[in-house]
Amino acid sequence: SYPFDAEAIKRDFPILRERVNGRPLVWLDNAATTQKPQSVIDRLKYFYEHENSNVHRAAHELAARATDAYESAREKVRRFVNASSTREIIFVRGATEGINLIAQSWGRRNIQKDDEIVITWLEHHANIVPWQMLCSEKGAKLRVAPVDDSGQVLLDEYEKLLGPKTRLVSITQVSNALGVVTPADKMIEIAHRYGATVLLDGAQSVSHMRVDVQALDCDFFVFSGHKVFGPTGIGVVYGKPEVLEYMPPWQGGGNMIQDVTFEKTLYQEPPQRFEAGTGNIADAVGLGAAIDYLDRVGMHNISRHEHELLVKATSELVRIPGLHIIGTAKEKAGVLSFVLDGFRTEEVGDYLNKNGIAVRSGHHCAQPILRRFGLESTVRASLALYNTHEDIDKLVSAVWNLRLGRTSIS
Ligand code: PMP
Repeated sequence: SYPFDAEAIKRDFPILRERVNGRPLVWLDNAATTQKPQSVIDRLKYFYEHENSNVHRAAHELAARATDAYESAREKVRRFVNASSTREIIFVRGATEGINLIAQSWGRRNIQKDDEIVITWLEHHANIVPWQMLCSEKGAKLRVAPVDDSGQVLLDEYEKLLGPKTRLVSITQVSNALGVVTPADKMIEIAHRYGATVLLDGAQSVSHMRVDVQALDCDFFVFSGHKVFGPTGIGVVYGKPEVLEYMPPWQGGGNMIQDVTFEKTLYQEPPQRFEAGTGNIADAVGLGAAIDYLDRVGMHNISRHEHELLVKATSELVRIPGLHIIGTAKEKAGVLSFVLDGFRTEEVGDYLNKNGIAVRSGHHCAQPILRRFGLESTVRASLALYNTHEDIDKLVSAVWNLRLGRTSIS
């Protein structure tokens, strides 16, 4: 009755056949990075064997092939997030670079002394530090919306932070440390009522749920290719055309200009204005192949499968005495963060690694939210479409074994 075949999907990812410490690899570190299907690996190889060139279409045959491949990847990204035009899609290195681009281009132009930028306690350091840098440069203020004990954003408290000085709201759609899905649609609507521009950090959402930037009505959206089964070193900034239009370039160089004299340079329209220099052509093409793969599987199927795994893992892990899940909000995607009384998180991570299970123990680049719960570190098991019920069984029984003082899975 359950049509989604995670075992078959797993076979599409060659690295998942690896053995680690004598055991089959169980990859539960997907919030850090995801593995790549054979089709993405093959696409990269094909690009370098048959298409590689810089992207200047008219020059010669390979330039035309590379340009077509690159621009068709941009179209795939457009469809993936449902932007209205490829002019709204800028290729960058990743979510971090995307946020820094927005901070330094849009932010430098639009943020002034005493203006306010609102984020949440859930943010990844990548959505905190660039705003601190901008605030200290401009004399602006960073304000932080609190969360309740389940890790969910307190909407009333959030709204109280907004006012005539709020220029920007920059929030995550899914918390990387806890897996909490924020009420982004409501938060965006509220922010717009106060005239604020909104950046939505999709680094942790795009692999788990269907994203529609037009329905969400965010002004900016960023994500990283490597967290959505594509290569590292490629990421995306989506921006509404009316917002991108008035943004100055971020980096200067080739490709982003229309005309250069020593006196004056005319810039390209978006997105080229924001893509100085030779881009990461091959990896953009690889990201396009990852999106094709997700299209074939279907985001709805992925969301449903992962939700089932998350519910199973949560209900089984909480039965282990002394285990505490951090982030118990109802709306969650992909991430299980926990601590185990009597064990340091590194001990849990090491023990799981000895059993072939890859999780992350640490602060997950989100120290403020862990400290909100009085912690410096959690164990984080994070899911993707290729995780199976058996993966969860292995995780749960390994944690039980550690708890009961056994040395390995029996
Ligand atoms: N935001 C969130 C919510 C993230 O989880 C991450 C990656 N851990 C980032 C931003 C930054 O992504 P990257 O390191 O790929 O630039």
